[in-house]
Amino acid sequence: MESNTAGKCCEFENVDKMDIIRTASYHRHNFGISVLRANPRDLDQVQSSLLQTISTTSSTVGDVGLLPLEVILEICSLFDIQSLFNFRHVNRRALQLVATTRGYEVVIRHALEALGIILRTKVASWFTISDLLKALCTRDCGLCCSFGSFIFLPSFMRCCFACVRKNCLPPVGRVPALGKLSNPSQSYLHGLVPTVTTLPGRYVEGIMRKQRYEIIPTEFVGTLSVREWHRVRQLQGSLPLKYMVTTSLPCLDVESGVLQNGICCNGCDAFLRRTHGAKSPSFPSDNPWTLRDKVYSYDEFMEHFRECREAQSLWKSSNQGIDVSNI
Ligand SMILES: [Zn+2]
Ligand SMILES: [Zn+2]
Repeated sequence: MESNTAGKCCEFENVDKMDIIRTASYHRHNFGISVLRANPRDLDQVQSSLLQTISTTSSTVGDVGLLPLEVILEICSLFDIQSLFNFRHVNRRALQLVATTRGYEVVIRHALEALGIILRTKVASWFTISDLLKALCTRDCGLCCSFGSFIFLPSFMRCCFACVRKNCLPPVGRVPALGKLSNPSQSYLHGLVPTVTTLPGRYVEGIMRKQRYEIIPTEFVGTLSVREWHRVRQLQGSLPLKYMVTTSLPCLDVESGVLQNGICCNGCDAFLRRTHGAKSPSFPSDNPWTLRDKVYSYDEFMEHFRECREAQSLWKSSNQGIDVSNI
């Protein structure tokens, strides 16, 4: 992982970057299984159903159907996600209209897992398809500007795993815990702030969480006293709340159509596994664990690759990506 000299970078300039990426990087699955997630086996069938096209239909949407099509589609784009999906069930004409609403098809094609989670956690009534499309097409974490592979559901902010793990996300709390402490009643809070109802599952610590909790961003609740905060923490116990309100979201580059989930460096991982983090003169100045866990976009990874001797070594030992059996 020692920094390379600039002159040696030239040997990689004429290589297809995707060959290097396939050989020297990998997607870190354990980050994605630490947060809210859906069963990928269920998604394919749902996707084809949601994308089905209806060319002609005799059904109508009543007086609304008398409006110009552009106006109807504009109204559809202003529906929150839950209302849009409810509207879709009215009849075949409504289904047709929703299918042509701006952003719908892109979201179904590229953000279906996140969309399913958004509907199941009941936060869908707070955001529109355009909000989700905007998050899908945003690349960087809203907090640290690194590549972000996740979405923080209470605000639809793109974020990175490091910010979830380091507790950098805006504070969240369980509604019952906050309802007992603060002036607003629970029902008042429900109507006032985005509420995420968590799903049963195993999160970052691997413990099965069967109970569903209602989580809100506490910034909306007003200022809690130090004593109240202490009480909130006691009531929340050890629940990994921020993992329970975050889910994976790939990043779509609209211009190129490339979808990215974020990649880590195989070279840095191999180096750390070999040395167990022991001090070494070839360690870069960064914390090696942080570097091992860093998630890159394709372009960011290529910049790293030009500096990472371990990744370059993997690339060369694979005979330029032809033999990856030992990687
Ligand atoms: Zn971040
Ligand atoms: Zn590396």
